[in-house]
Amino acid sequence: MAEVPVPECLLKPLYVPRKLLMGPGPSNASPRILAAGALPLLGHLHPEFIAIMDEVKKGIQYAFQTKNEVTLAVSGTGHAAMETAACNLIEPKDVVLSVCTGIWGERFADMAERQGAKVVKITKEQGQVFSNQELEQALRRIQPTVMFVTHGESSSATCQPVNDLGILCHKYGCILIVDCVASLGAVPMYMDKWGIDVLYTGAQKVLSVSPGASPISFSERAWKKTQSRTKRVTSFYFDMTGLANYWGCDGQPRKYHHTGPISSIYGLREGLATLAEEGLEQSWKRHAQCADMLYRGIEEMNLRFLVENKEFRLPTVTAVLVPAGVQWKNVSNYVMEKYRVELAGGLGLSAGKVWRIGLMGYNATPDNIRLLLRALREGITTEQTRIP
Ligand code: PMP
Repeated sequence: MAEVPVPECLLKPLYVPRKLLMGPGPSNASPRILAAGALPLLGHLHPEFIAIMDEVKKGIQYAFQTKNEVTLAVSGTGHAAMETAACNLIEPKDVVLSVCTGIWGERFADMAERQGAKVVKITKEQGQVFSNQELEQALRRIQPTVMFVTHGESSSATCQPVNDLGILCHKYGCILIVDCVASLGAVPMYMDKWGIDVLYTGAQKVLSVSPGASPISFSERAWKKTQSRTKRVTSFYFDMTGLANYWGCDGQPRKYHHTGPISSIYGLREGLATLAEEGLEQSWKRHAQCADMLYRGIEEMNLRFLVENKEFRLPTVTAVLVPAGVQWKNVSNYVMEKYRVELAGGLGLSAGKVWRIGLMGYNATPDNIRLLLRALREGITTEQTRIP
């Protein structure tokens, strides 16, 4: 006789409402991607599944613009890829420079501290980015062995240029880790050309895939650093040596490491295929054009942006300052209740000050922008959203 009774809630049908996800992620998945999730499961070492893993690897190499052999998808969301970067590249003897333009630099610093390394943070005022000169000064002063940079900062809606940053890091004997969770597919990214050593992203942003498997790639330099560690990687699950074998990156026969998230890998395969069909250049162009259309609509409402310099705005996430007299949460609630559209608030330092509007992958269309602008305009002008 079971001692804990059957939960009544599980006897009712599953309820999932339809919403237009115009926040900083997840974005909506296309019907093609949703259909992939309904395909039959395969064994995680069956040849047909391994063939799909190989296609995913090729898709990541294309999306990252890299020829790195050690390229795979970590099981888990963006944080899993971030932990993988931290626990493989960092050990107590390392000095880590975490470049903070919002919460993700802070988050990585936290992870690096957990690896026992000395961590130094440099922080920019919200809505601004670092110049390569400032970063070079920090490299010279701090002499880190690892530097972390967020390309698309979803909390402050900035895009930190990372062009040639890896080459700069190498001049100072430092490895470069870049987070492109919120930017990949929307903004040009050239992992090899720019000398990035570790690059990772998530599935649920521009790829419009359900979160669950996160692309990551290690350069030869990063791989050598992991192979010459003095201490073992603190996590079994995220140890790249085991993962690289499971993903067929080390030339050895594949062994069971863990059960891959089969359906998430199908979805990722379709997300990467969608990007490949559109082409990176066209996807970059579409996101830039959509962002421009959104900016014009926001300006017409006389609203202002957190990131004043358009050059450093992230096209996938736009932070709009909440005007005086308006309660941000009331507007978000209004837009959700009336239009079923997600309009997110701020995160970290931007909390309470901005709305964050997402334009990612499948959702980055003129129709969605028109709907969002109409809903926002109505939400701001209606009496019920005013601060009494
Ligand atoms: N980095 C950035 C820039 C992000 O925007 C996010 C997700 N918002 C993450 C890392 C973490 O990803 P996840 O929530 O999928 O774990």
